[in-house]
Order: sequence, then C-alpha cells, then structure tokens
Amino acid sequence: MVKKDTALGTGTMADRITDDEFERRMYSHDIAPLPKEMEAIFNTMPDFVVRPKSAKEVSNIIHVAQRKKLPVIPRGGASWGLGGCIPVKGGILLDMSTMDNIIEIDGDNLTATVEAGITWKKLCDTLERKGYFLGAYPSSAPSATVAGWINTGGVGIGTYKYGGAGDMIRNMEVVLPNGDIINTGFDYVMPNGSGYNLNWLFVGSEGTLGVVTKVTFKIYPAPEKFESISYSFNNLKQVGAAIHDITRAPINPFHMGFGDAMHYEYLRKVGIKAPKVGSLLTVTFEGAKEIVKYEEKVVDSIIAKHGGKSLGTEVGAHEWSSRSYEFKVRKMGLGAIPGEILVPMNTFSKVLDDTAKLIKKMKLKVPMIGSVADRNSVMVMPYYLTDKRKFVRSLTTMGFNKKFADIAFKHNGRPVGLGLFFACNVEKMFGREGSNLMHEIKSAIDPNDIMNPGKLVRTTTGFGFDAPGFAMNMGLGLLASVRSLLPRDTFGEKK
Ligand SMILES: Cc1cc2nc3c(=O)[nH]c(=O)nc-3n(C[C@H](O)[C@H](O)[C@H](O)COP(=O)(O)OP(=O)(O)OC[C@H]3O[C@@H](n4cnc5c(N)ncnc54)[C@H](O)[C@@H]3O)c2cc1C
Repeated sequence: MVKKDTALGTGTMADRITDDEFERRMYSHDIAPLPKEMEAIFNTMPDFVVRPKSAKEVSNIIHVAQRKKLPVIPRGGASWGLGGCIPVKGGILLDMSTMDNIIEIDGDNLTATVEAGITWKKLCDTLERKGYFLGAYPSSAPSATVAGWINTGGVGIGTYKYGGAGDMIRNMEVVLPNGDIINTGFDYVMPNGSGYNLNWLFVGSEGTLGVVTKVTFKIYPAPEKFESISYSFNNLKQVGAAIHDITRAPINPFHMGFGDAMHYEYLRKVGIKAPKVGSLLTVTFEGAKEIVKYEEKVVDSIIAKHGGKSLGTEVGAHEWSSRSYEFKVRKMGLGAIPGEILVPMNTFSKVLDDTAKLIKKMKLKVPMIGSVADRNSVMVMPYYLTDKRKFVRSLTTMGFNKKFADIAFKHNGRPVGLGLFFACNVEKMFGREGSNLMHEIKSAIDPNDIMNPGKLVRTTTGFGFDAPGFAMNMGLGLLASVRSLLPRDTFGEKK
C-alpha cells in the first residue's frame, strides 16, 4: 500500500483523505449485498478514501494515481447495486458526495449548474422552490447523485416525456485520466452540430473514462398541474396491452410505472400501505390543467378497454409519494438485487412469459416492477431477495441476471447496466467490432487503465488479470443451473 503521507496527504486536502481501515471497509461495497467470499476474487478494499471539493483537487489526485499506477474509483451514493463504484484491485476511492453544491440556477437561460455529487432530490427540491422543474430523475433520487445516474445512462421517473440522464445535460466538467479538465458541451445551447458529442461519450460510461465534477442541466418552468392516477389489472400482460395503446395515442404523459401482485404483497409484508391488486399501473400527468384533463380522459378510456379499473387519484397520490421507496422490501431478506432490461413494446408479453419460465426453473420468488421509457421501450425490472449469509444460494442466484439479459437479447432488447459482473454482455450488445471500438476508446482516453478498472469493458480480478467474457458467460450460466438444483425461495412465507 502507498503510504498516505508520501502519496496524497499534503496541503488543505489532508483532512479529507483517509486510510483508516474501518472507513475503507465502509467503502468496499455498494447497496447490493455481495457475499463476503467475493473478496477472494476482487480486492474491494480501497487503499485510500478521498473526499474532494473541486475539479482541481480531483485532477491533483489523478496525477498522483498516474504516478503510482493506482486505480481511481468514482463513487456517488453507491445506490446502483451492480458494483460500479466498488474497487476490484484497491486504489483511490473518490467519494464525490462531498461535491454537492448548487452553483447557479439561471432562470433567464433555463439552466441549473451543480456540483456532480449533489443528490437528485436536493436539486429537484431546490428547483421546485424556485418555480422550476427538472424533466427526469431516478426513483432513488434521495440518495443517487447526478453524476452516478449520468454514468449509468439511467432510465427513470419522467424519462418517458423528458428522456434519460443524458437528454437533460447541456454541459459537463470532466476530469480525464491524464488530469486534464474539460467541458463536454455548451452551457446555454444544445450540443447539436458537427463534432463528436462529448456529453454522450460520458453518459453510461460507468466512471471508466473520467470523473464528472460539474453538470449544467436544462430546466423547465414548473407545470401548472401534476397528478397521478393508479389503475388495477389482473396481471402484467393486461398492463402491457394498455401501455401499448397509450404509447400509440397522441398524448404525452409524464411517467408510467407498474408493479405486479408479488411486489405489492412484499411491500405490505414490510408494513407499507400497498393495494391488493393483480397488477398496478400508475400514470402521472403534468402540464397545463386543460392538457392534463384531456390526457387523463384518453388514458381512462384505453384502460377500460383493456380490463383495467381506475383506483383514482388517492391511490395515485400514495403511489407517487412512495416512488422512491420500492426497495424497502429488502428488509425481508438481507438485500434485494434487481435485473434491468429494456425491451420493445411488441415483445413485452413474450418477455413476461420467458421470465416466468426462468423464475420457475430457478425456483426463485421474483416480484416485477418497471416503467415505460419511451414510446417503444419498456424497462422491466424484476428483483430478488438475497441473504448473503447463505453463500451458495446468494452467489448462484446471480445467474438470474445473466439469463434475464439473454431474454432481452432474444426479444430485441438489451440489459441496461454492466458494472462489475456483466462486461461479458458488451460483445452481445454491440457486436465484436463495436465491442473492439469500445475497448479502443477506453485505451485511447485511459492508456494505463487507472479509471475505474474492471468495469463495463472488462471484468478484472483482484489478481490483476481479466476474466475472459466467454468464461464469465459460462460461469454465470453455470451458477443459474446450480441454483435450479437448490431448494426454492421461501422469503416472506411462514416457517
Ligand atoms: C430504491 C432504488 C431505486 C432506483 N431507481 C432507479 C431508477 O429509477 N432508474 C435508474 O436508472 N436506476 C435506479 N436505481 C439504481 C441507482 O440508484 C441509480 O443507478 C443511481 O443513479 C446511481 O447513482 P449513485 O450516485 O448511487 O451512483 P453509484 O452507485 O455511486 O455509482 C454508479 C456508477 O457511476 C459512477 N460514478 C459515480 N459518480 C461519478 C462521477 N462523479 N464521475 C464519474 N463516474 C461516477 C460509479 O463509478 C459507478 O460506476 C435505483 C436504486 C434503488 C436502490
């Protein structure tokens, strides 16, 4: 290990750098419950934790990391769960949550400029107080940071109408792996026109190309009316038929989120008020009063045509206020691990069939939630509970995510995140040539592979060598097969 005083601990930053073992351990995992035994494969303990306060400080740290050939791992709220902010071979962990200031809200140009470690909730609440509105944000807004969601290329609340993380960005300040500080876009106008779109290069890059330190978003005037209505259905297939027709109608709701019977049953089991339904779709409308009224009328009639029943605005308001707390169900196990895929509207029903078969084969209990991401993309997010004390069970259940991604590929879709374990999907997603280009981009920007190594383009072990994609694919497939031989899940059942 590099000694703190020789490498980093000088000047005004000294009190924000630590090599204390307890603190380093706190930063050796994210929200997902990885079995402790994984530490035999990955060196998840950072050598240092640093809490920077400016892009200049990040740049200084990166210069040290280059000299010492140490990995640099950016971390936001650690709420992703795919291991993106977990070290694989130690290094310098950058806790970006200390950079959480609002720099400027510019009502004249309709922009908000913030430090990258601010949470979405802090930003949205501030904008609301000033009469503005940000299009989209992840449902984990209370803990997720703006740069965390940007780096996962996320899909979330409001994405249907306003796009994902990348669609809202005007400009970013990014510290590159050579320490240079760059701007990726333009503060006041869209990035359209000639030139590689650097904003989008960093969206979904999982912290492998640089550290985002500042972001300028476009913002909107606050809507006149905001209202959610919940609709009950017998099952998710009926929901699928209804959302198909809503997306084909000339209206533009703000958000559509759904969940199945097991999800609401789990919520009730952990003491949260939740409707007793076969499935629930909550549609949120936003805009001028007259437009909201018209859109609600159109949606009501589509829902009725597909056998849905309106539960009204009271249940809608409750669902809306609970939108950030769907994973409280993890109290039933020791943690909940989500799978996340995007599939086209016309294969959603087949995806549900294949997923049901997979769940049965692997003997799991898997509630399903999801949202409509755009007019032809459905985000399907099943999750399973785990108890990491049961090593074999929790390890083998990870095979579900691999098999679930295969279902997405089969039905013209894609898995959403890659993180620590699923770099083996890159070639399946982008083809060999596309995957090669991604490796070349990574090598060109980060020739020494110091920036969040072992994520997105490759899985790197703590011993320094990469696990080949085909081996990861086979290994994860094998885990799924072993899980099928184990007893079925009994989470939430009376013993
Ligand atoms: C209850 C709950 C609801 C969720 N809802 C959604 C949802 O609606 N939509 C969705 O997409 N996801 C959702 N997620 C997953 C997760 O919350 C999001 O991906 C979130 O945006 C991650 O933000 P974070 O700050 O926690 O990032 P982290 O988990 O800390 O990091 C995620 C990735 O971003 C990188 N990173 C972080 N900060 C920086 C930086 N400054 N510069 C460069 N790279 C950086 C990390 O290295 C890592 O690869 C949900 C999770 C939970 C628990």
